[in-house]
Amino acid sequence: MSKLLSETLKGRRALVTGGNRGIGRAIALQLAEAGADIMINFVGSEEEAEATAAECRAFGVQAVCCYADISKEEDVAKLFAEMVQQLGGVDILVNNAGITRDALLLRLSADDFDAVLSTNLRGAFLCMKQASKLMMKQRFGRIINISSVVALRGNAGQVNYAASKAGIIGMTKSLARELASRNVTVNALAPGFIETAMTAELPEAVRAKMLEGIPAGRMGQPEDVAAAALFLASPQAAYITGQVLRVDGGMAM
Ligand code: NDP
Repeated sequence: MSKLLSETLKGRRALVTGGNRGIGRAIALQLAEAGADIMINFVGSEEEAEATAAECRAFGVQAVCCYADISKEEDVAKLFAEMVQQLGGVDILVNNAGITRDALLLRLSADDFDAVLSTNLRGAFLCMKQASKLMMKQRFGRIINISSVVALRGNAGQVNYAASKAGIIGMTKSLARELASRNVTVNALAPGFIETAMTAELPEAVRAKMLEGIPAGRMGQPEDVAAAALFLASPQAAYITGQVLRVDGGMAM
């Protein structure tokens, strides 16, 4: 980690939704390395969540895990109550959890549309609502929402996913306006094509086509996205709010 950012988050408390694996795991680790205590939320694998928490603790911070389906209001309320009880509050929220249910529009069921909106958009809304209450009171907060380049460019077969990720950008800018005077920043990251379980499912031909459109000539790594999240969480980014930062190797310029 660069000297500039190391130790910058000492004493801060960060919640990473879907922090057990993929991009969320990389974000949790970089925030922990910078000194933040971490709450790792998961819905599937508790084992992965515990393993990531243990990796965070190796940086000398507190790290705990909590099950919550972020699309459910009662689960999100419990998640935040648990965070306050175990870590004493929330300074940084990373809305990372997300799913895909890809299909061309004519084959896309209303259930798959709702499922993606429910996790990706409603989930982020529910978490922002809980976090805002605490952050406004303490007059400090950093909210980082994980959108996607698909929100900016569209993608065949992802009408539901693109709608959810474009919605994230609208929510980010609106809440940034609501909270700016309280010293709470709200920003979004728009990752490109990042090597995780989500993209591992894509057929080889689709991956090859995607790669052709990336000026950097490679897929991104979860750590590339995490580095941007760490910057937005840092004191150095205090005057940046309502922005969408692309982390995509030049894919969506
Ligand atoms: P993964 O599929 O590897 O991980 C998804 C994460 O979301 C898992 O931790 C999963 O938890 C969690 N999750 C899913 N549904 C819920 C839910 N209802 N409640 C709580 N947690 C949930 O994805 P990535 O790491 O690739 O993606 C992370 C984020 O980045 C997503 O929002 C994705 O849309 C976005 N993104 C990814 C890109 C990529 O190329 N990979 C590009 C652009 C954006 P569990 O393991 O417990 O099921």
